[in-house]
Amino acid sequence: CFVCLFLSFTSQVCHSCFRHQAKLHRCAQCKFAHYCDRTCQTACWDEHKQECGAIKKIGKAPSENIRLAARVLWRIHKDTGIVSDSQLISVDQLEDHVADLPEEDLKQLKTDVHNFLEYWSYGRKQHSVDYISHIFGIIKCNGFTLSDQRGLQAVGVGLFPNLCLVNHDCWPNCTVILNHGNQSALSSALHSQRRIELRALEKIPEGAELTVSYVDFLNLSTDRQKKLKEHFHFDCTCEHCSQHIKDDLMMAATESEGNKSSADKVKEVTSFSKGCLEKIESSRIQGEYHEVVKLCRECLAKQENVLADTHLYKLRVLSVASEVLSYLQSFSEAADCARRMVEGYMKLYHPNNALLGMAIMRAGVTHWHAGEIEMAHGMICKAYGILMVTHGPNHAITRDLESMRTQTETELKMFKQNEDVYHTMRDAALKNQPMASKQ
Ligand SMILES: [Zn+2]
Ligand SMILES: [Zn+2]
Ligand SMILES: [Zn+2]
Repeated sequence: CFVCLFLSFTSQVCHSCFRHQAKLHRCAQCKFAHYCDRTCQTACWDEHKQECGAIKKIGKAPSENIRLAARVLWRIHKDTGIVSDSQLISVDQLEDHVADLPEEDLKQLKTDVHNFLEYWSYGRKQHSVDYISHIFGIIKCNGFTLSDQRGLQAVGVGLFPNLCLVNHDCWPNCTVILNHGNQSALSSALHSQRRIELRALEKIPEGAELTVSYVDFLNLSTDRQKKLKEHFHFDCTCEHCSQHIKDDLMMAATESEGNKSSADKVKEVTSFSKGCLEKIESSRIQGEYHEVVKLCRECLAKQENVLADTHLYKLRVLSVASEVLSYLQSFSEAADCARRMVEGYMKLYHPNNALLGMAIMRAGVTHWHAGEIEMAHGMICKAYGILMVTHGPNHAITRDLESMRTQTETELKMFKQNEDVYHTMRDAALKNQPMASKQ
């Protein structure tokens, strides 16, 4: 890791190990940084000390971008841009694409540079505006989002120079994940540091280029190309984009005999779904979950027998519905939505896609909550298989899955021996202990 930074809008995350903690200790100097304990604070001090001084002087923490840029520069001053022998490229050599930025972004960049210089202005080495713009440009197109140890929430952003050498493909043969390491093992010999991992998704022939994807595959090829152009300034000419592979499935209408809908009907339902998805999103943001559920049900009913099970609009509605229904503890309906969603995902995603693995895991947990133990166990096993590839056996999520797998296996055995006893015990357990503890 060259430079990592946690995002300040995520509260209750340790700035050192990125773990969620209910109670964190504040840095006495800047009153901005928060840590689990002394160990985390000490581990992070080298990265934090200059930042700590700067924040103290200007009285508040600047935006993420500015803090990250400053960290990059402190790091460059310390080690001439190369951190270790295994680093293949110096930060200065990375692409910044400043010349490609649209007017609006250039304005923002100017403001950022201005604020940066103020933050940086305490008797340190001075830099030209061009050089600072270069650093901001690098962060914008090479910054990597870091999620918490359960992979649920974006908590930080990091810069990893070697990763910037891996090109994009919408159907990649590798994936990048953040391993938070393990500092909780009793023996310090078993401790491992936080690190970024480039992992193979399949057997890669010798000499083949390693690729990762910068965007979620579940978008039409033109939409992926648009995103890549906007954020990373290149035209994707990967095989899946140039041949529009799977675009047809993502837009498909139902095919079953006697059920074929007219082109007009498909058009009508598609545009209805589009509008409905916008309403669903705004209701969700406002926390009106019952309204979200109502809209989802309405939309799914309209789509029935018109849009295929792999249609993106159907999958998006199912995804929100399963999440919100789970939250509202309507587990049976949530499980049904989750199952339909992952069935669609499996027809679209690479079989070892990390997002697919995570979706199957959540679907498995939802089925578990719904008491559908057989399906739950099957899904958890399937997710475990994918995450062993994408996250590896030592990742916190994989270890969670492993214990869920053992637990569902035991419950499944119990269920097969005696269904009635299983349900009685389950009901009793449900009354005594909130199911949320499984989340
Ligand atoms: Zn910590
Ligand atoms: Zn501090
Ligand atoms: Zn592509």
